[in-house]
Amino acid sequence: RAASGSAAAQLRRRLESELEDIRGAGTWKSERVITSRQGPHLRLAGGGAGILNFCANNYLGLSSHPEVIRAAVEALEKFGAGLSSVRFICGTQSIHKDLEQKIAHFHQREDAILYASCFDANAGIFEALLTPEDAVLSDELNHASIIDGIRLCKANKYRYKHMDMQDLEAKLQDTQKHRLRLVATDGAFSMDGDIAPLREICQLAQKYDALVFIDECHATGFLGPNGRGTDELLGVMDKVTIINSTLGKALGGAAGGYTTGPKPLIDLLRQRSRPYLFSNSLPPAVVGCASKALDLLMESNAIAQSMAAKTQRFRSKMTAAGFTISGKDHPICPVMLGDARLAAVMAEDMLNRGIYVIGFSYPVVPKGKARIRVQISAVHSDEDIDRCVEAFTEVGRKHGALP
Ligand code: PLP
Repeated sequence: RAASGSAAAQLRRRLESELEDIRGAGTWKSERVITSRQGPHLRLAGGGAGILNFCANNYLGLSSHPEVIRAAVEALEKFGAGLSSVRFICGTQSIHKDLEQKIAHFHQREDAILYASCFDANAGIFEALLTPEDAVLSDELNHASIIDGIRLCKANKYRYKHMDMQDLEAKLQDTQKHRLRLVATDGAFSMDGDIAPLREICQLAQKYDALVFIDECHATGFLGPNGRGTDELLGVMDKVTIINSTLGKALGGAAGGYTTGPKPLIDLLRQRSRPYLFSNSLPPAVVGCASKALDLLMESNAIAQSMAAKTQRFRSKMTAAGFTISGKDHPICPVMLGDARLAAVMAEDMLNRGIYVIGFSYPVVPKGKARIRVQISAVHSDEDIDRCVEAFTEVGRKHGALP
């Protein structure tokens, strides 16, 4: 007991010192507690009411859409709280199969497989698909879950410079000796709001006989004429082999992720993908939300168009006010400030004016490239957007970000 007591004390000291280091480095992440539904107007614990929210991935505003909520309640009542089982033992309901078919149909692919999250979909795919005979070529700014998924696989790993087609081509040349080459990229990058040059990536992949994988978490539901994603936007739906995406952002925002692509790949994932095999099935209410969100999107692209118009309004008004907004035509609108302290104090001052935005600095983004990331949603009104721009202008002048 004494020994385990001292180990516990040692652990506590080590953890406290590590936590102190995080605070000291200025990278401590605190969580604001929301006491309302997700939406453009929030209530925060501690009294903040009517806060304008510009930092959720609720691009289409479906997280609190009445029909999405009703679908979740109906699925909960009909199919219960959950399956208490993984899919292959006793955890597959008709709604899981229906949602997989709907996802495949939405993306115009052969089949789809559900996961508890896109993090899991990314954790599961590379190891199941690639062997030491193969190679994966990954954009250096890919999401952490792609990086972790690649770490878990035994393929040869190459990292190309962010969206740099010369570097990708050089790496494709270097990797000719490997059996199969997979280029892996985010469709849209969440810190910069920039969109992968998929047309060029697919051309290079074709030239060097490689496959293309995209993570569409910040694209599914709203990029492209019918919201199918980056591949639709850039006219390469038939050139991208594998898509991973989330149900936890534009598609209702509850939770869940998926892979969609060729049927034999999906069949293999059901046999080999560890996060699928060893984790509980998606809860029916969550399946109900995503399924309804997809129905709404397939009926009409009006919601996606409304979001695009609001994005345009914010980007052009902010640019006219003198700010630099990174990326192009994407609802992720990073207001580039450079200095980490400036980003932090401006974000705090925006909240004092009732606008909830978040500052990002090193190590989340490169040194000297601190920013406040604004995310636009279809459910923001024009007045909400204008209020946000006005507050930025006032706060920017006050802190010297604008003349
Ligand atoms: N991939 C990207 C690009 C993301 O931004 C995220 C979420 O932040 C994920 C994967 C993980 O998605 P999920 O929340 O479904 O695990």
